[in-house]
Amino acid sequence: MRQSLFLLSFILLLVSTNLAGQEIIAHRGYWKTGGSAQNSIAALVKADSIGIFGSEVDVWLSSDGIPVINHDADVTLNGEKLVVQDTPFATLRKVTLANGEILPTMEEYLDAFTQCKNVKLIIEFKVHKSKEREDMLAEKVINMVRQRNLQEKVEYISFGIHFAQQIRNIDPQAPVYYLSGDLSPQVLATMGLSGFDYHYNVLYKRPEWIKKAHERGQKVNVWTVNKPDDIQKIIDLKVDFITTDEPLLVRQILQKQ
Ligand code: MG
Repeated sequence: MRQSLFLLSFILLLVSTNLAGQEIIAHRGYWKTGGSAQNSIAALVKADSIGIFGSEVDVWLSSDGIPVINHDADVTLNGEKLVVQDTPFATLRKVTLANGEILPTMEEYLDAFTQCKNVKLIIEFKVHKSKEREDMLAEKVINMVRQRNLQEKVEYISFGIHFAQQIRNIDPQAPVYYLSGDLSPQVLATMGLSGFDYHYNVLYKRPEWIKKAHERGQKVNVWTVNKPDDIQKIIDLKVDFITTDEPLLVRQILQKQ
């Protein structure tokens, strides 16, 4: 009995990790499955249930200072487009996601995350109209993470270099990756960032950045890799993390290596 339990856990371990050491991050959670939706709490829980490395999520600050979860800069409510950062929380709260969930707050998302057993949470700070608003958002979210003792399970990403530097200032230990694709690993190293998370086209053009990052002890993530050809090319480039809308497909291809 004990032996078969051991064998079973060994097989599960093999399924959930890949031997090349490349890890999978579900873009906006694992949403391409029944009952899920992009950036929903269900998508986080489902990402956790499939034993992948991470689940990504996007965060904005409402006009009255509440961190809320959404990808786009706007939401649609009763046919009307509302800019998230210009809209009060009470109004945003009337928005429902494709799976029927109410648009979640960062607090609710983190509360659900405390129950997750496997995944890390990759929090993307969306670029706002002012640095003051960005500072407020970074401060609030990092405090929420600290209050729940989740520092070891959370990583941060942003297209905003101001955001990346601000996160680094507030939490010097936190893994922080930059998304925009325009800065070399050398420059990112001078800012003390953990590495980069670039579009795959950037890495196709500048594959040498991957080696340069690794030489500096940085990690490389890539978004958003969904097609089998691209998944294979990115695996061959030896990145550390693959962000995808197709976590099961990426795992299948990784297991064939
Ligand atoms: Mg994102």
